[in-house]
Amino acid sequence: MLFSILTLFPEAIESYQDVGILGIARARGLLTTRTVNFRDFARDRHRTVDDRPFGGGPGMVLKPEPITEAIEWIEQRFGPHRRIALTPDGAPLTQAIVEEFVSPTEDGAEPLPVLLLCGRYEGFDERVLELHEFERLSIGDYVLAGGELPALVLLESVSRLIPGVLGDGRSALEDSFTEAADGGLDHPHYTRPRVYRDLEVPPVLLDGDHSKISAWRRAQREDRTASRRPDLTGDRGEA
Ligand code: SAM
Repeated sequence: MLFSILTLFPEAIESYQDVGILGIARARGLLTTRTVNFRDFARDRHRTVDDRPFGGGPGMVLKPEPITEAIEWIEQRFGPHRRIALTPDGAPLTQAIVEEFVSPTEDGAEPLPVLLLCGRYEGFDERVLELHEFERLSIGDYVLAGGELPALVLLESVSRLIPGVLGDGRSALEDSFTEAADGGLDHPHYTRPRVYRDLEVPPVLLDGDHSKISAWRRAQREDRTASRRPDLTGDRGEA
């Protein structure tokens, strides 16, 4: 998979992308990332990428020209991309959306490389997103200072689903929010020692009866989801 990341802070992306699962995916050649600083496409002496908002108000808005020229430069060299802007007004990122990135395309063709656009300040001049037909993704209902962490959230969540990245690919298929978990939360996990500070591992996990273990884990997933995330069961309570 190939991601081109447009950002004013390539070092923020680069410092994290060699760590852990992302690093493994890149080292194995299963994920390629390319970071481009759209400040390099600003044409004035001061390499200006932002300006005051029309209509007044606080903050600065990212100018359309450097971003547009960076997109055109990338696509002329590396072909068309699926374009995604990280922005609080985007669709909330979910595991279903993440899974879609690694699902086979309908016609069996190679998926397009993905272009991730990271904002800063008050965000992008709206026309950039209109001109280049961007999808919009948000990582949650809160506001960060920039789109670099959201881009890394997307990259890491996708990369752990790429076949060959995780040691045992089954673990990603059974995590919270997956079909195996009925879209709900994962069951609790335990490892050695059997007793830790007087807390014992549930006995059902110790006797090797796999149908009992499966039933227990299913019940745990259902209970946790109902009590901690009723919104995932479709039961939003009385309020
Ligand atoms: N004025 C914007 C608003 O109120 O929605 C906030 C802009 S924010 C300070 C600057 C940039 O951070 C955004 O353009 C976006 O790229 C990124 N960002 C902040 N929060 C985000 C979120 N929850 N999801 C995705 N991107 C986010």
